[in-house]
Amino acid sequence: MKLILLGAPGAGKGTQALSLSEKFDIPWMSSGDLFRSHRKENTDLWKQSFGYIEKGLLVPDSITINMVLSWIDENSNKGFLLDGFPRNIYQAESLETHLDNSSGIDKAIYISVPDEILIDRLSSRVVCKVCGIPYTKSDKNKCTVKACTGELYQREDDKPESIKKRLQVFMDETKPLIEYYNFRDKLIQIDGSGTVESVRESLESSILISNK
Ligand code: ADP
Repeated sequence: MKLILLGAPGAGKGTQALSLSEKFDIPWMSSGDLFRSHRKENTDLWKQSFGYIEKGLLVPDSITINMVLSWIDENSNKGFLLDGFPRNIYQAESLETHLDNSSGIDKAIYISVPDEILIDRLSSRVVCKVCGIPYTKSDKNKCTVKACTGELYQREDDKPESIKKRLQVFMDETKPLIEYYNFRDKLIQIDGSGTVESVRESLESSILISNK
């Protein structure tokens, strides 16, 4: 299965991706986590990307597309679940071209959530330094995913100014992908404003139905 998760920052892509990738046994890639995995070593890729990420802007396609397509080549013989890529039409077309020998992706799942809820979630979110799983700020300070126990921290782009910018970038650049995949009959839309469990159930059942 080749699946894409679409949704504004805070829609719940990262929260749902781990369980979906386990349930359907497909590797999960978060483009944001791939970028952040370069931070510790301060690689050239991180030096070129950090300024954009911090401001809530998209990293240039020339950097992002190579990074993600290399991940696909190395990891995706069992299909994939992409979270955070594509984020604009050019990236979507590059992905289709790259998958040219197959019929492209199977489904793009759009998790839709009203803006007020997104802002609320992002400003109270902390994420695991090691595996990237998001949590709501509380007294917990370690990741509880099996065998992880990474430290939780607030991302530099989860500050109010960057949050505003990221939501704007989503509206301008990423939202057109909804029409792009709808036109190709590949879009599934899910209401992401409910609880983690109810959204997970809708996601799993819509994937099962579409895969019949
Ligand atoms: P969120 O979905 O919460 O906004 P991500 O962790 O997916 O956050 O991404 C964080 C940042 O990484 C983005 O704001 C952007 O700067 C960069 N980024 C991630 N994916 C892409 C992409 N496909 N194209 C360009 N930039 C990206």
